[in-house]
Amino acid sequence: MVACTATDDEDRDDAGETVTVPALIGQDLWTKYDWSFTTTAQTFLDNRRRDFNSGRAVGGSSILNGLIWTRGAKADYDAWEALGNRNWGWDGLEPFFEKASHHDVDIRWMNC
Ligand SMILES: Cc1cc2nc3c(=O)[nH]c(=O)nc-3n(C[C@H](O)[C@H](O)[C@H](O)COP(=O)(O)OP(=O)(O)OC[C@H]3O[C@@H](n4cnc5c(N)ncnc54)[C@H](O)[C@@H]3O)c2cc1C
Repeated sequence: MVACTATDDEDRDDAGETVTVPALIGQDLWTKYDWSFTTTAQTFLDNRRRDFNSGRAVGGSSILNGLIWTRGAKADYDAWEALGNRNWGWDGLEPFFEKASHHDVDIRWMNC
């Protein structure tokens, strides 16, 4: 199930900001795009409170994150397939992991 939540001012993604560039991860922390939560005191972290950044926009923390991903364990994908999801096992998905691992980008537009 997917739940969409939004605050009154969450229509502010104008696509012209640094949140649209994954390589700029970190630049939008503690801005209008960040709930800037703080945890309760953490028993196993010296009882200190910690910053807990979280995306404040429709789409959630994907507006802040770096799009870094890794493949899961073969057994987990094979378990999906065993539940009746044909081609969602490791053998079915591995070609797409490979495909997603090679992405050439023309960066000339960045003037660098
Ligand atoms: C800085 C940062 C970098 C990250 N980098 C990566 C990465 O590279 N790769 C990766 O896989 N993961 C990364 N993550 C983690 C990943 O983004 C999260 O695990 C994932 O987005 C969590 O999804 P979610 O749907 O559980 O919550 P969220 O995506 O956080 O969604 C929660 C939603 O609830 C809304 N909400 C919260 N409180 C309220 C409220 N009181 N009223 C109304 N709405 C509310 C929020 O606005 C948001 O839309 C990163 C996270 C952060 C913060």
